[in-house]
Amino acid sequence: CGIVGAVSTRDIVPILVQGLQRLEYRGYDSCGVAVYSDGLKRARSTDRVAKLLEQVQQESVTGTTGIAHTRWATHGAPAVHNAHPHFSHGPGKDAGGKAGRIAIVHNGIIENHEELRAALQRKGYHFASQTDTEVICHLIDSVYDGDLFEAVKEASSQLHGAYAIAAFCKDEPHRVVGARAGSPLILGVGKEGGENFLASDAMALAGVTDQIVYLEEGDLVDLQLGRYWIVDRSHKPAERQVRTVQAHS
Ligand code: GLU
Repeated sequence: CGIVGAVSTRDIVPILVQGLQRLEYRGYDSCGVAVYSDGLKRARSTDRVAKLLEQVQQESVTGTTGIAHTRWATHGAPAVHNAHPHFSHGPGKDAGGKAGRIAIVHNGIIENHEELRAALQRKGYHFASQTDTEVICHLIDSVYDGDLFEAVKEASSQLHGAYAIAAFCKDEPHRVVGARAGSPLILGVGKEGGENFLASDAMALAGVTDQIVYLEEGDLVDLQLGRYWIVDRSHKPAERQVRTVQAHS
């Protein structure tokens, strides 16, 4: 339903959660946030975003790179274990106990999730949720070879459906990768410290940045500190205009 993501040098959790609050009016059944902090860390809730904020404060979830989501369930009941962000945790028998490598949030629907899930299960991936989203997460993990942008590019070529995703990897802690295919996704160019943002709607970034790039259908975006990179649906480098949008209150 709603996506916010960031690469920064300051603790980004308050901005991610505030972004979710700005998207709350769209409705949701659960919410969550994940950050890099010596590995992947997350908090998820079937309560209001205000409760999620209490949870991240109690559990000291802080980090400079992160993604956040409000979910409107399409596959899998509204429940904490189905709430995003999802983590990869395979393959292998003990994978369930292993800290994840890839974290992902997703809007939309993956039509071919059943066949992808079956193929990933054959490779030894264990699934912790009933969502179509977790399939994307393990798929990215299965093709990951040290470069998250390449992995998302490869994985997205196997996905059918309408989606927007934001992902990060604990092995590349200052990077967030996004893909837009049928669901809106925008890039926010930060004003301080080279920080950059992703969101499903510019409104999520009100008060943070008014420098917005509207991604086009099929675009993939690579966010790092002080730089970003966009390729189009045929994976060719794409120039996209930065627009100054009126700040909403
Ligand atoms: N299909 C995904 C799920 O059920 C994403 C739903 C959404 O857009 O919030 O978790």
